[in-house]
Amino acid sequence: MSFTLAIVGRPNVGKSTLFNRLVGKKLALVDDQPGVTRDLREGEGRIADLRFTVIDSAGLEEATDDSLQGRMRRLTERAVEMADVCLFMIDARAGLLPADEVFADILRKKNANVILAANKAEGKAADATILEAYALGLGEPIRLSAEHGEGLLDLYNALTPIAEARAEQAEADLPETDVDVGDDDEDAARIPTKARPLQIAVVGRPNAGKSTLINKIIGEERLLTGPEAGITRDAISVQQDWGGVPMRIFDTAGMRKKAKVQEKIEKLSVSDGLRAVKFAEVVVVLLDVEIPFEQQDLRIADLAEREGRAVVVAVNKWDTEDDKQDKLRDLKESFERLLPQLRGAPLVTVSAKTGKGLDRLQQAIMRAHDVWNRRVTTANLNRWLTGMLEQHPPPAPGGRRIKMRYMTQVKTRPPAFVVMTSFPDMVPDSYKRYLINGLRLDFDMPGTPIRLYLRDQG
Ligand code: GDP
Ligand code: GDP
Repeated sequence: MSFTLAIVGRPNVGKSTLFNRLVGKKLALVDDQPGVTRDLREGEGRIADLRFTVIDSAGLEEATDDSLQGRMRRLTERAVEMADVCLFMIDARAGLLPADEVFADILRKKNANVILAANKAEGKAADATILEAYALGLGEPIRLSAEHGEGLLDLYNALTPIAEARAEQAEADLPETDVDVGDDDEDAARIPTKARPLQIAVVGRPNAGKSTLINKIIGEERLLTGPEAGITRDAISVQQDWGGVPMRIFDTAGMRKKAKVQEKIEKLSVSDGLRAVKFAEVVVVLLDVEIPFEQQDLRIADLAEREGRAVVVAVNKWDTEDDKQDKLRDLKESFERLLPQLRGAPLVTVSAKTGKGLDRLQQAIMRAHDVWNRRVTTANLNRWLTGMLEQHPPPAPGGRRIKMRYMTQVKTRPPAFVVMTSFPDMVPDSYKRYLINGLRLDFDMPGTPIRLYLRDQG
């Protein structure tokens, strides 16, 4: 059987919004199912191919009469008891509030399996809260925007091991008891993680050759039956070993076309591409060598960068190109000029039709994924920072000395760094770019977005 997820947190953080997104609008929200209290909404949630039960502990705002605190606590406790895992939601815009601590406390006492999520994290508003949230001692929060559907891939990745553990448990035919995990037995609560498929999306303008490429990768056999369409609501995916590496490939219009689904057959629209990008770890931007770097290609590549995905640019139909050397030089020039934010991302030439270059594409994807997951030690970073500061000290706007003291990596996927500095608001963008480009070069991190946050050292 599948697992149960409870969404908990103080009122107004966005629990219901997420609930509605996971459950979908058309599914009626069932309040009167047996075993479900009137205050807890329950529904069938989905993200891509994951299915689970979701419990929403919202609906407290109406309870203005008796002790709100007490009711909130009881309701949350009940939700936690019903769930395999709790999504503890905080509000990235509001920051960490004392009320959040109340919930953290409940979760700790109940020994719940917790995924921390900072909601309303669209844009850059979340950065400060993300850092604050470490204080909860629940690890790194997932950035979510329930309203805009962002961060679902990270949630998917966090939930998958739980689903897998559940499936294994069912397979082993173990009785599903409420395991009470004692404080001294932390290991027992740990969910085993398995090698997960690397998630890639192939995006590009219509006729770039996306379906030809994917079909080449998944092979003739699958083509006969066609990938199972409709298994996901937001994007269609297929899992396939590629060069011995398990991959899950998210496609948009291409596979739908080949699967002959009885629905309006459409070519890639930008919004299809956007959806695929959200699910991917590595985004392959597939260009047509005849018309590379079209507006649509640039938009989606830029989006992938902003979403923090690793990017590989593949130029397709290379078999039709006569003057390969000149063309390659042109392409590299255009790439640097038109997509400076993706500096260093690999550019690979392929022929989806003949299969030439696909091994190099696969290598580039793996490498980009690797870099995306890269972690640099604090010691190395600080040694590096000292050198960078000496080589080119930060400017002194209005005579104020900007002192950068300390640096650490706070996150991977993509790599994110925090620099403790005086006057963070006065550091010019050009100086941030100097540091980011330096990181990219000196720690060999091409093809991944790099985030750099400046924090006031107080
Ligand atoms: P709940 O009380 O925790 O269930 O919160 P709701 O789901 O009712 O959301 C509270 C408010 O936050 C509503 O006005 C939502 O529209 C808003 N909200 C929810 N998710 C987001 C988000 O991702 N971004 C922003 N900016 N607002 C959100
Ligand atoms: P999609 O719209 O991006 O899925 O593109 P398709 O895979 O449907 O391909 C569009 C057209 O380009 C088809 O006629 C393909 O046969 C052709 N095509 C795809 N890849 C290649 C290639 O590597 N070389 C050549 N010459 N043609 C290709």
